[in-house]
Amino acid sequence: LIAEKNVAIIQVKLNQSSTSMINRTLKVISSEKPKNWQEILSELITDPKELLQLLRLDINEKPASLVGLKQFPLKVPRPFVDAISPGNWSDPLLRQVWPSIEEDVISDGFSSDPLQESNFNPVPGLLHKYQARVLLTAAAHCAVHCRYCFRRHFDYKSNSPSRSDWLDSLDYIKDDPSIKEVILSGGDPLAISDKQLAWLIRELESISHLKILRIHSRIPIVLPQRMTSELTTLLNETKFDVVLVVHSNHSQEITNQVKENLNSLRASKVNLLNQSVLLAGVNDDSQVLKELSQTLISLNILPYYLHLPDKVSGTSHFSVSSEKAIKILNSLRDELPGYLVPNLVQEEPGELSKTRLV
Ligand SMILES: *Cc1c(COP(=O)(O)O)cnc(C)c1O
Ligand code: SF4
Repeated sequence: LIAEKNVAIIQVKLNQSSTSMINRTLKVISSEKPKNWQEILSELITDPKELLQLLRLDINEKPASLVGLKQFPLKVPRPFVDAISPGNWSDPLLRQVWPSIEEDVISDGFSSDPLQESNFNPVPGLLHKYQARVLLTAAAHCAVHCRYCFRRHFDYKSNSPSRSDWLDSLDYIKDDPSIKEVILSGGDPLAISDKQLAWLIRELESISHLKILRIHSRIPIVLPQRMTSELTTLLNETKFDVVLVVHSNHSQEITNQVKENLNSLRASKVNLLNQSVLLAGVNDDSQVLKELSQTLISLNILPYYLHLPDKVSGTSHFSVSSEKAIKILNSLRDELPGYLVPNLVQEEPGELSKTRLV
């Protein structure tokens, strides 16, 4: 039966859900033990040729940017590759991870630190830019390298948090009772182990003026296996109000595996939000964003922010003009209930909050 089903699916078209279904079926047939997230994290794809081989694409058609690769190496988790449709250079997921030659373009107004964040970096690994909340770099690395990343030039090495940096950050937070919320960011905060995360949360819990723990992570989307029951328990048992902001840009990223793993948070106290970056050739289309909101609500996730990409050098091919962005947002407002429309924002250096475009 399984074999017949697969033959039928293969004949239709190798799209994302059929590929993942076949992968799962093959796993059942070979009764291979599913890999845990640390194993998947240790087997990331870092070789552009291997990525293209898996996707049946020819590197001669679209050579990779050597400058881009040197600056920000290729890094893609295999579950994310499974969600890319083979043979399609225009796949919206591939575009987010492929170091295109367009990264070599030098554009006016694009720089390596467009947000001038170094001005708000009182302790290594800590950003205190907005009132009542601080951003803490819990991990210096990510499970994926998104080519549009505004931190692609970020000096992670000197901001790579050691325990003593964390202790300095904790002291900084302790000394400022106006801070009510800690945002774990990165890198990707869920790239650290549950043990490290538990330690950090316990330390934060000892600071009485803190009320909210927020985690910003792309890992639930690109490495869903990370969402273990241990992690859910950890988040459920903290005294904090907990917000998990996942980062998804396209509904094609929400595979059955992602759904399955995020569903495990349903019964928890964790508030789920999503933030996206508006990216040319990926999701600069109201239908795509509409579908994303509609897919996310089925997982209890509400849209939060839709960011205009920051003007980081090497990413100008992802730029969307604010006029186009506003048009897209207005279409979303016409077609969706208000709670499924994200806030369209932009990060401007020196502002006291993110700037809403409409
Ligand atoms: C985006 C951001 C925050 C959080 O802003 P919210 O509007 O609360 O989501 C906090 N600190 C820094 C440095 C940020 O970039
Ligand atoms: S997950 Fe976030 S921080 Fe990491 S590379 Fe992607 S956009 Fe950048």
